[in-house]
Amino acid sequence: ERERLARLRHTPSITLDGQRIELLANIEQPADAAVAVRAGAVGVGLFRTEFLFMGRNGSLPDEEEQYQAYRDAVEGMQGLPVTIRTIDIGADKPLDKTHKDDHLNPALGLRAIRWSLADPAMFRVQLRAVLRAAAHGQINVLFPMLAHASEIHQALAQVALARAELDARPQVYGAVRLGAMVEVPAAALMVNTFLRYFDFLSIGTNDLIQYTLAIDRTDEAVSHLYDPLHPAVLRLVTEVIAACRAQGKSVSVCGETAGDVTMTRLLLGLGLRSFSMHPAQILAVKQEVLRADTRKLASWAQQVLTAEDPSALLGA
Ligand code: PEP
Ligand code: MG
Repeated sequence: ERERLARLRHTPSITLDGQRIELLANIEQPADAAVAVRAGAVGVGLFRTEFLFMGRNGSLPDEEEQYQAYRDAVEGMQGLPVTIRTIDIGADKPLDKTHKDDHLNPALGLRAIRWSLADPAMFRVQLRAVLRAAAHGQINVLFPMLAHASEIHQALAQVALARAELDARPQVYGAVRLGAMVEVPAAALMVNTFLRYFDFLSIGTNDLIQYTLAIDRTDEAVSHLYDPLHPAVLRLVTEVIAACRAQGKSVSVCGETAGDVTMTRLLLGLGLRSFSMHPAQILAVKQEVLRADTRKLASWAQQVLTAEDPSALLGA
């Protein structure tokens, strides 16, 4: 089976009805770029940069070190696009042991973009490093956990300020596309506000499920209720995809469901054309894509979407 899949590496990812489906990789370190290319990814859809910051006992990587890391990732992708997510620290990804349990409810606390905006000078170190790396390849910047219009404005203002700081040095940097994660129900419900400000969106189903269903994604006592097929989750995902498509903006899913082969046909049927996943899943998902006819899947997906128990229809 593995050998058979390996032969798909250079096969274009196109459905039976001719739809080109973008299969991207999620990475955690610059060295993972080589793994992504070898797996047949056409880009990085999610570089989880928090892994550069974790486990350093409070010392953060400076601009130079970050710049090198982002540049390595971009060069490792050999001209393919890299989506760099700004730090998503907190909750299930504590900075280090000293920060571990110092919040009442870390998943609802100072994590991700909230953490970055709480220390704008630190945030701009990362933004300047990313902008400088963009001189070496195609970079998209992705902001995690946005839920308020005011956070959108603040994040974009920090990007503008980071550019101004580089201009003042002066230092070379490149153009980037700006995007947002949709991983809080509030973001999905106000997707049109997001689309006013961003070039692309990426749906983080891991957190979207957690926050929609009030299920801590790390708590085994409730893991049986953590359901990617819950009708409420499917509805939010569908509406975000539809809103993006209506405005001609790119949208991908970068949570675990994107790499789950039992979800591929449903996501295609709901209109998704870009998936970002662990590199090890790419060929298996590509196999599903090659067998799919999105025209047939679209009407079936509408039935799944309105079912009380969507999982019962998934094998159909
Ligand atoms: C997600 O929430 O779906 C996601 C991709 O981000 P992370 O798993 O890093 O929180
Ligand atoms: Mg997330």
